[in-house]
Amino acid sequence: MINFYYVTFIVILFFIAIWIILWDRLSNKKSKKLQTKNVRICPKCKSDDVSPDFSIKTFGEQSEFNKYKCNKCGHASIFFPELTKK
Ligand SMILES: [Zn+2]
Repeated sequence: MINFYYVTFIVILFFIAIWIILWDRLSNKKSKKLQTKNVRICPKCKSDDVSPDFSIKTFGEQSEFNKYKCNKCGHASIFFPELTKK
């Protein structure tokens, strides 16, 4: 029975270590997001009011991934310049 308790103790320590590493990585990602913010800008009207286009029309086309649409002028394109905002 001593061996059984020893194994469970090691397993618990292992899970705690994994949990600490995962928590540390998640907290690092959150802090990095706060420091730098990526902003997509419309190439037509240079507005930063750009959102990913997930409409039914885009899903029917070949380029259904990484498609963005400008909310100001309605310009939709795959290529939208991305800038880092401080
Ligand atoms: Zn635009």
